[in-house]
Amino acid sequence: MNLQEIVAKKYNKKLGECSNEEIYFSLLDMTKELSGKKEKKTDKKKLYYISAEFLIGKLLSNNLINLGVYDEVKELLAANGKDLAAIEEVEPEPSLGNGGLGRLAACFLDSIATLGLNGDGVGLNYHYGLFKQVFENNLQKETKNPWIEEQSWLTRTDITYPVQFGGFTVTSRLYDIDVTGYENRTNKLHLFDIETIDESIVGDGIDFNKEDIAKNLTLFLYPDDSDDKGRLLRVYQQYFMVSNAARLILDEAAARGSELHDLPDYVVIQINDTHPSMVIPELIRLLMERGIDMDEAINIVSQCCAYTNHTILAEALEKWPIAFLEKAVPQLVPIIYELHNRVAEKYDDKSVYIIDEEHRVHMANMDIHYGYSVNGVAYLHTEILKDSELNNFYKIYPEKFNNKTNGITFRRWLLYCNRELTDLIEELIGPGFKKDAAELEKLEKYVNDDAVLDKLLAIKQDDKIALKNYLKAEQGIELDENAVFDIQVKRLHEYKRQQMNALYVINKYFEIKEGKKPARKITAIFGAKAAPAYVIAKDIIHLILCLQQLIANDPEVSPYLQVVMVENYNVTWAEKLIPAADIHEQISLASKEASGTSNMKFMLNGAVAIGTEDGANVEMHQFVGDDNIYIFGESSEQVIDHYAKADYVSRKYYDDNADIKRAVDFIVSDELKAIGNAENLERLYHELLNKDWFMTLLDWETYRAKKDEMLADYEDRKAWAKKMLINISKAGFFSSDRTIEQYNQDIWKL
Ligand SMILES: *Cc1c(COP(=O)(O)O)cnc(C)c1O
Repeated sequence: MNLQEIVAKKYNKKLGECSNEEIYFSLLDMTKELSGKKEKKTDKKKLYYISAEFLIGKLLSNNLINLGVYDEVKELLAANGKDLAAIEEVEPEPSLGNGGLGRLAACFLDSIATLGLNGDGVGLNYHYGLFKQVFENNLQKETKNPWIEEQSWLTRTDITYPVQFGGFTVTSRLYDIDVTGYENRTNKLHLFDIETIDESIVGDGIDFNKEDIAKNLTLFLYPDDSDDKGRLLRVYQQYFMVSNAARLILDEAAARGSELHDLPDYVVIQINDTHPSMVIPELIRLLMERGIDMDEAINIVSQCCAYTNHTILAEALEKWPIAFLEKAVPQLVPIIYELHNRVAEKYDDKSVYIIDEEHRVHMANMDIHYGYSVNGVAYLHTEILKDSELNNFYKIYPEKFNNKTNGITFRRWLLYCNRELTDLIEELIGPGFKKDAAELEKLEKYVNDDAVLDKLLAIKQDDKIALKNYLKAEQGIELDENAVFDIQVKRLHEYKRQQMNALYVINKYFEIKEGKKPARKITAIFGAKAAPAYVIAKDIIHLILCLQQLIANDPEVSPYLQVVMVENYNVTWAEKLIPAADIHEQISLASKEASGTSNMKFMLNGAVAIGTEDGANVEMHQFVGDDNIYIFGESSEQVIDHYAKADYVSRKYYDDNADIKRAVDFIVSDELKAIGNAENLERLYHELLNKDWFMTLLDWETYRAKKDEMLADYEDRKAWAKKMLINISKAGFFSSDRTIEQYNQDIWKL
């Protein structure tokens, strides 16, 4: 049925008479019908991408684009006095992810379907998602983020499984979301839920009884793990996810003709970070239940599973106390012991054991021993894994290690979020880049074409005005589109060093007070959620919000400097912010950011990076050359060396550099304390002076100098436009289509 027919049947109205909500629900029906027609389930071998997060963003426009009906629908609506952008506003953003890892999973699903590969995502249907961030008194407050409505992208299926925990059993239910590929097939995102969930147990904020598993299991992504109850709940969630996944995988494989002994011909499982690691012992257990002996079961599973490492931060490599597993999933414990014993019999090096001397299970170690592939997510990251972090494993299994530099889907991060730029590119080089991103290189021939450069600048200005209007409507904040927009949006973590950027802002504030005014207004825009239990991260948010208020109310400084923190940074925000950026901040401490993907999105939209030689910045730097990216800071080797020697002392930088001292001291100044909380500000001050584990002050001086250089360069608008063009033209490598092709060639072999 076409849209008019659906509307007539559903609401007995003409299109022009419908509310935006009614049109949205009708478009939901239409899209589901169209994507259903593109389902294909014929291939023998199938990929299952299991992930705790899928940060999919709003789906309406993305699906309309992928199904090839976006323009048609937009015009039809316009002809009936309706605006597609206003209808998009009605759609809630699904809250199924936290940051880059979840967004990567979403981009991958898009590319898998676009490339016509047989592969589905598997995860959980969190009712309240991560959390919704609100600012109160310049502090982050967490509230629940309900996103599931009566009519939504979720389709309830008949698939249910009993899932056994220690002492009780729950019943699962599978919900599906269609994943449309660009002019290609439709796959599925499978999200498991339980029937007994009770949303009413969550009061104000995000507090709930963490022990009532049958009621709370799929309420939140990453429940607070600062106590044992929260940590145990994460184990229940993870097992629930993988037990359901494993059954679905076996049932589907059987339906495709597998006799279990040949499972690796039918199934490949990508384990996205360590959250789904228990799929290994669970699959072994299920195979044994179905009559396969232990040796063969282990062998089969080891040929089906591949592991992606996303971080070298120790706190993120999960280690579960065996006592937790004994309580939550006792049926897995003997299998995990068996897996451990086989390793311990073979190797003396205790660092590769699965169970350590403190009786903790190292999930990544299990993945590496009992999977056939281990990949990092950018060149530098994989090198660090091989050379240091996982070197003991690399020595045993050099053949398992491989790199797959992350990517982003150009459909969402260019075609959808920046139509004006898309149209210009198409006008210049034709439509081929939409399917083959490498064609963007053809743009290079326009690098001295003034008309093209002017158009590029005009589009950026339009995007800045669009952001200005959106921010005004959302948060009542006024932007100046003639300011330089300097944007840092990503999860709040000390290693990402938002605090370093904040110290730059403070220094600029002092310079302006002293009469050293910038050539043009600088607008520093932040967006970030902090994990609820991450105290220092929340203190950094507090500092940024206090600076925002202080500077906005200072008539001496506010004409030259503005700080803005957007509330509840998510995919919808990213789609507005990224096209509007002049400068993007990728300033993590070298060696700590595995890849980053916002760097790729910004690059594609013609923003220029200031960054360290970290994650995918390294590859970006190689592609664009020294003139089109602003690199500063100590190298990953130097940083790793500081950690090894424990020779970094932040106080030394504070004592030796008067500007650093002035900026750090300002955190606990009377002016800021009059706006903020002394407790938060003092804690952050002491952290920076006495610990500073992620070495903010180490690179501050070179960061300041590099950014000042960059701001000066920005004033040569033509030269800057060339940098923008080069960045766009070299972004093709960072298409997730390229990433997925490499996964398929080297790992999945679909
Ligand atoms: C791309 C994206 C991220 C990842 O950002 P990084 O800067 O690479 O950490 C996080 N959140 C959202 C909403 C994104 O779209």
